[in-house]
Amino acid sequence: FGNPAPAQPRFYVTLSIYLWSYAVVAFIVGYLELERNIAQGLQDVFWGLPCVLLLAAMSFLPDGLSANKKTNRGSNRSIALLLDNLSPVLFTLVIVIMGARIAPVYPWIGFASITIAVALYGLRAALLQSKYLRSQHDLAKSGLALVDAIDRLRDISIRDGLTGIYNRRHFDEVLLAEWKRSIRTEKPLSLLLIDVDRFKKLNDRYGHPEGDECLKKIAEQLSKILRRSSDTLARYGGEEFAAILPETNKESAQLIADAMRMSVEDLKIANEGSKATRVVTVSIGVCSENAMLSRPAEELLNAADAALYRAKKQERNRVQF
Ligand code: GH3
Ligand code: MG
Ligand code: MG
Repeated sequence: FGNPAPAQPRFYVTLSIYLWSYAVVAFIVGYLELERNIAQGLQDVFWGLPCVLLLAAMSFLPDGLSANKKTNRGSNRSIALLLDNLSPVLFTLVIVIMGARIAPVYPWIGFASITIAVALYGLRAALLQSKYLRSQHDLAKSGLALVDAIDRLRDISIRDGLTGIYNRRHFDEVLLAEWKRSIRTEKPLSLLLIDVDRFKKLNDRYGHPEGDECLKKIAEQLSKILRRSSDTLARYGGEEFAAILPETNKESAQLIADAMRMSVEDLKIANEGSKATRVVTVSIGVCSENAMLSRPAEELLNAADAALYRAKKQERNRVQF
């Protein structure tokens, strides 16, 4: 009855009826035999009862016993749990009591049965304990794997698929956070917008896959220039990159921008479309500011964008502040 989801409920109910009626009859017959000395014929009548009940259950119990499975599943589960936990205790207790009753007449049998009962109970407890420890260990392991998977997923969600540096979404979040931090600490915040010069011509001449390779190399090169862990390099758009440099003033930002521009030129990636240099170059717009409560972070972006526009106007491959 306690099984929460028996495969064949009708079978188990029939079996339970038979076993319970058998136990009751055995008790009554045993008692009558010992105390009242009843006739053999009456005993046979009693022993016939479980069989009659078995036949009746097999014939009359309805097939649809599982119909109410859903409604009382909760209570079934608690009964199953109670039986699971209580039956080993009761079983051990019965053997111990029997052993104690036998001991005055057959001391060794009594002693042996008590010892076996206690030993079996102890063994069961030890097995349960080790199973519990193993499941705790498995749980901890799967928990760690889950945390690891979440970390990896989060990392994927903030990275650009082509270059592996941060993506625009992460850039926007970091810019806002650093802008707020700059207001709190009253330290300057610098922003660099880096745009590849004549990139369309490179694509047209050498093909898109070459263009992609070029973007990867540039991202790698730009990352090398940034040494501080607080600096953030992101792919801002197609062939545009952006760097956020917290606690960096105008002079330092200018030095970093110059180093970036030169290091990209040093890569010497051919771009015949770039008439002046014949290699891939970048133009960089820089803005450095002490954040102010009254102004939004976009102002920094607008200023860097305006500087980039001027760099493009002045023949490209240069840094404008
Ligand atoms: P300018 O010097 O004024 O910046 O000229 P430009 O050609 O670099 O700029 P424009 O905006 O005209 O063209 C940018 C090109 O970048 C166009 C687009 O096809 C290319 N592009 C954008 N994203 C990718 C990408 O992921 N891979 C490749 N291969 N090309 C890209
Ligand atoms: Mg562009
Ligand atoms: Mg460009």
